[in-house]
Amino acid sequence: MLSDAELTGAPRVVRDWSYTTNRMVGDGWILLGDAACFVDPLFSSGVHLALMSAVMAAAYVHGAKTDPTLRVPAGQVYEQLYRKEYAHFRELASLFYASNRTEESYYWQARRLLGDTNVGARESFIRAVAGQPPRGYERSALSHGELPSEISEMFASVASDKRLRDATVAMGLSLNLVPRLAGEAKLERRPIFAEGEFQWSAVLSSATRPEGTPLSNFVAALVNLVDGKRNIGQILDRFTQGVEDSEQIEQAHESMINAISILYVDGAIDSLMG
Ligand SMILES: Cc1cc2nc3c(=O)[nH]c(=O)nc-3n(C[C@H](O)[C@H](O)[C@H](O)COP(=O)(O)OP(=O)(O)OC[C@H]3O[C@@H](n4cnc5c(N)ncnc54)[C@H](O)[C@@H]3O)c2cc1C
Repeated sequence: MLSDAELTGAPRVVRDWSYTTNRMVGDGWILLGDAACFVDPLFSSGVHLALMSAVMAAAYVHGAKTDPTLRVPAGQVYEQLYRKEYAHFRELASLFYASNRTEESYYWQARRLLGDTNVGARESFIRAVAGQPPRGYERSALSHGELPSEISEMFASVASDKRLRDATVAMGLSLNLVPRLAGEAKLERRPIFAEGEFQWSAVLSSATRPEGTPLSNFVAALVNLVDGKRNIGQILDRFTQGVEDSEQIEQAHESMINAISILYVDGAIDSLMG
């Protein structure tokens, strides 16, 4: 076929097969699977992304038809969730390539990741790339992998911040602490994808979780009262205004301390000032 062909330019090496589209959803159309994006096939992510987007796209179409108010905002959430999963796989592929300097080290890295010394290096590599869910790989990479130093340092700093927050919570939160939301945290009402469908919910979004964390009505009401000025005791008073039953007040107190602890450890509450 190439016998009469003429080379008209220098050969090029294609190193990254990943691609993504500018828009994934619009008026009357939605993209999924390879039509929307594709990641370097190292972790066999294609079928996972195709099926995940198919489930969400079906839910989106059903939701948009039954509740037209979902049409535009649920489309945005679909795209955010999909891009996040895509980015997760892409970052893991970059991480894998970044932590291997020679051809042999790919195999050794795979063996380290699997943590099974009875399996040969090449077989480990095949197992590692034959359909790893990203979160499983992430855990393995953190516990057994050889990571570039800037990435290990970043993880170490996040882990140390979390340890400090855990320790503060373990000591017990006193009523005079003033909780303050992280600068970019925003409470809003928008669609979430839960139990196989798009539905409206209170959501706390932040820079690290632009798609937002769904909140129950109780926690949403609590977050509404966190203004960086009221302390926990004052928030509790506002919360239980008009409630006479001491048992109910006690329960609200306990649930509120639990919710503040979770929001603090998660970083949505940035600080607790004494
Ligand atoms: C060689 C190879 C190996 C791969 N290995 C893996 C792996 O091990 N694990 C993994 O997870 N992923 C793997 N992938 C990626 C994976 O196959 C894709 O990401 C996945 O199949 C995408 O699914 P899809 O439904 O979006 O597209 P496709 O599976 O491509 O399905 C699209 C379908 O639409 C049909 N079609 C196209 N145009 C029209 C039209 N006009 N009318 C009607 N029908 C039409 C096509 O014939 C096709 O059947 C591999 C891909 C390749 C090419």
